[in-house]
Amino acid sequence: MKLLSVNAGSSTLKFRLYEMPEEKILTKGNFERIGTEEGDYTIRVGDEKVHKTAELRDHNDAVHILLEELVHHHIVESLDEIVAVGHRIVHGGNKYSKSVLITDRVLKEIESISDLAPLHNPAALRGVHAFMEAIPNAKMVACFDTAFHQTIDEATYLYPVPYEWYIKYDVRKYGFHGLSHKFITEKMTSMLEKKPNLIICHIGNGASISAIRDGICIDTSMGFTPNAGIMMGTRSGDIDYSIISYIMKKAERNLEWVDNKLNKSSGLQGIAGMNDLRDIDRAYLANEQKVVLAIEMYTNKIVDYIAKYYIKLGGKVDAICFTAGGGENDDIIRKEVVSKLYPLGVSLNEEKNKETIVRRGVEGVISTDDSSIPVYVLATDEELMIARDTYEIID
Ligand code: AMP
Repeated sequence: MKLLSVNAGSSTLKFRLYEMPEEKILTKGNFERIGTEEGDYTIRVGDEKVHKTAELRDHNDAVHILLEELVHHHIVESLDEIVAVGHRIVHGGNKYSKSVLITDRVLKEIESISDLAPLHNPAALRGVHAFMEAIPNAKMVACFDTAFHQTIDEATYLYPVPYEWYIKYDVRKYGFHGLSHKFITEKMTSMLEKKPNLIICHIGNGASISAIRDGICIDTSMGFTPNAGIMMGTRSGDIDYSIISYIMKKAERNLEWVDNKLNKSSGLQGIAGMNDLRDIDRAYLANEQKVVLAIEMYTNKIVDYIAKYYIKLGGKVDAICFTAGGGENDDIIRKEVVSKLYPLGVSLNEEKNKETIVRRGVEGVISTDDSSIPVYVLATDEELMIARDTYEIID
């Protein structure tokens, strides 16, 4: 059975076509600059990556071109072969703890929580509508980035703010990167052959850490929005909220300006002046002082969460897992983090850490045999998680 896994952003649409249940990727690619006359896209055909420019006025244009390319390159002979499309939806609010088949009611509910993710949910919905129109016989499935974290308890998800903000306005911790945290949890469940206790560090450009007890999420570092938690590539993570009104007054700027700075010019970017971990690592090895400082701050924040979750898990942690672009490939960040965990008896096998680079196809354990907690480096795969959930729902 063929199904598409789709991640639609405001001006982008990433896709993979899978043969399920074999989980074979038949093609993948992405559309960029949707909403312009000079859009472009790539699609993999066999071993070749085809790159073209096209007018992409909206998501419908992108979807039509994608479907035409699939037939043109004989990746499918007929569009009826595409049985389902799984869509990544950033926010499922309080309503969804699992992926669901998209019905009119589900569409309305996703729309109704768009205030919680004004940049992301409307874009994803545009993707859903475009596929519904283009291939009306295919089933549509919504896969929420918040769903995996819905098992977090009230004492943990509530903020110490007026309770009515929660009742009236849904202010609470939701957590994000759920598809990735779920993927790693399932991978570890099958590797360890038990429902594990885990601390998962998703270290990408955005970054979040989750605590998993018996295979269930009990806490995560992101919050009401993906801006909370640890310092990230360009986002501040948790800060004292009073800084916002103070800077507005001092710099004579409005809320939008400060919000933009906290989102796009903070985190590693704010301290080091760069946010790509590959650049950061080069500058770190050259001993650039701002970068050394940024890495010290960054790894401290990660360690703060690991320590906190170690306590939450009662000291019973089956594994600490690193994943996402940085976690999978950045041996410097991993070394700095693990070296700060020595009070817990966690220790790194430096050679294995250097060798274990997902980009080179190597995953596995990077801790020493006598480490109190094994440390894993694992490839995450959010697109495959969407495909698996979609397959399970429509099968
Ligand atoms: P993601 O958000 O999961 O796509 O991850 C993006 C982050 O992973 C960026 O900060 C990249 O610099 C980082 N990253 C990707 N490849 C490498 C690498 N080979 N070494 C260090 N960091 C990497």
